[in-house]
Amino acid sequence: MRTMWDEEFEVVIIGSGFAGLAAAIEARKYCDKVVVFEKMPVPGGNSSICGGIFSAAGTPLQAENGIEDSPALMLADMLASGQRFNYPELARMVAERSTETLLWTIEELDVKYQPSLSWVGGHSVPRSYNTWNASGSGIVKPMLAKCRELNIPVRLKSCLANFVDDGNNAIEGVEIREEYIFPKSESGTPKRIRATRAVVLASGGFSQDKEFRAIQNPRLTEDIESTNHQGATAESLISAIRAGATPVQLSNIQLGPWASRDEEGFGVGSLFSMLAGFPYGIIIDVSTGNRFVNEQSDRKLLVDSMLNLGTESIAIVDQKGVAYATTLDQCLKRGVVRKFDSIEELAASNHVPLMPLVNTIKSYNSSIEKGEDRFGKWIHKGLEPIQYPPYYSIRLLPKIHHCMGGIRINTLAQVIGIDTRRPIGRFYAAGEITGGIHGASRLGGNAVPECILFGRIAGANAAREPLRSGHPLSQE
Ligand SMILES: Cc1cc2nc3c(=O)[nH]c(=O)nc-3n(C[C@H](O)[C@H](O)[C@H](O)COP(=O)(O)OP(=O)(O)OC[C@H]3O[C@@H](n4cnc5c(N)ncnc54)[C@H](O)[C@@H]3O)c2cc1C
Repeated sequence: MRTMWDEEFEVVIIGSGFAGLAAAIEARKYCDKVVVFEKMPVPGGNSSICGGIFSAAGTPLQAENGIEDSPALMLADMLASGQRFNYPELARMVAERSTETLLWTIEELDVKYQPSLSWVGGHSVPRSYNTWNASGSGIVKPMLAKCRELNIPVRLKSCLANFVDDGNNAIEGVEIREEYIFPKSESGTPKRIRATRAVVLASGGFSQDKEFRAIQNPRLTEDIESTNHQGATAESLISAIRAGATPVQLSNIQLGPWASRDEEGFGVGSLFSMLAGFPYGIIIDVSTGNRFVNEQSDRKLLVDSMLNLGTESIAIVDQKGVAYATTLDQCLKRGVVRKFDSIEELAASNHVPLMPLVNTIKSYNSSIEKGEDRFGKWIHKGLEPIQYPPYYSIRLLPKIHHCMGGIRINTLAQVIGIDTRRPIGRFYAAGEITGGIHGASRLGGNAVPECILFGRIAGANAAREPLRSGHPLSQE
């Protein structure tokens, strides 16, 4: 008889980003044997390279700064940006539990955040915390430390190849390839791992899977860059679908409007645009010198407007606005952002017609004085005219950033079966592998709370499944 199982754990988790590590930490509260499998040679996935922006409603920093906010307002922003493709019951959970999730990272993991809030596009108020180092690694590293403290192994170079079901509409384990070398699908040694309670899939999105993303959305051609880590590919999503999971909204793939033309990936320029250039500056069409969009719109509207232009665009901000840029020094050092003493120099260097640009800035400044902008940018107290040199510019290039689609889960993070429309037994999922929470377009800083919240829910529920009995480890 062939060997059935090589190893056994109570909860088996696939993926070592925010969702997988949160699931592991939470699962360990309810059971002893938890493991995380990660296909790459380093842990953390997109979570460790992300910008570390964490949006939440009703936070202590908002109270300190007199900012009125509520989960209802955050939900309304999510549904507006998501064009109501969002599953409302899941989106509502993110909004309602965002602050609780933020506080969990502080109290349970000792994550440190910067003392001021950012105002990210599409949010009605400033509600975004930033990790101390402007990176998701500021959360992932404490999560990994917690896993070590709790004796949760995080096994690298271990790729999920297949789910194994028990023949009774429940997942009993996984087949992984140990000593796997990304991206060689046949590398490593196959091993069967049994989960005596449940499996949690937390393997992230597929923004780097050029073939798969083009199947879902043919406009996303191979030449379009992505901000994601190399391992953001679709094979685990395909395995989940093979195991009966319901795929949803896979063509909802977001491009980031703030990325730089002068560096690869997310780099350091994206945060410059997101935190300073867009909220406190303007975006212009290089060929005309004109503004064409509300810079604080959600990502989809910005990208659609930029692509419709068909020309290059840049963001411009002055000395006052640049104070909000957490990555300015690195941007200047790498030549991603350039500094000019005058608008004349900025225009000449970026090949923008001078007089139209001067008029654009005049008209923007007078909108700030009047308190009304023709593109609908909200003119608030903190917004100042662009008039204080030096001036800064960044050349923009939309890059593929986030998969809003994925597999369908319910509020308990159970994976919904495509045949039965009911939960598949002992099968949970969380994070970017799941779909429909953000709808057509995710708001900045909303993935971190979502991944951690649903990771924790998945981990806790997986660990509370009744223990399976029988099946000795291996049968010869
Ligand atoms: C550059 C960048 C900046 C971002 N900035 C922000 C931000 O500031 N705020 C915000 O809210 N969101 C941000 N996001 C989005 C957010 O970071 C991601 O949505 C989130 O990190 C996803 O977490 P996750 O745990 O679902 O997946 P990931 O963190 O990607 O982790 C999934 C892991 O699973 C592994 N895996 C995949 N397939 C397999 C397999 N077959 N077997 C084993 N392991 C597998 C992957 O290698 C990966 O390590 C950013 C994203 C990027 C790319």
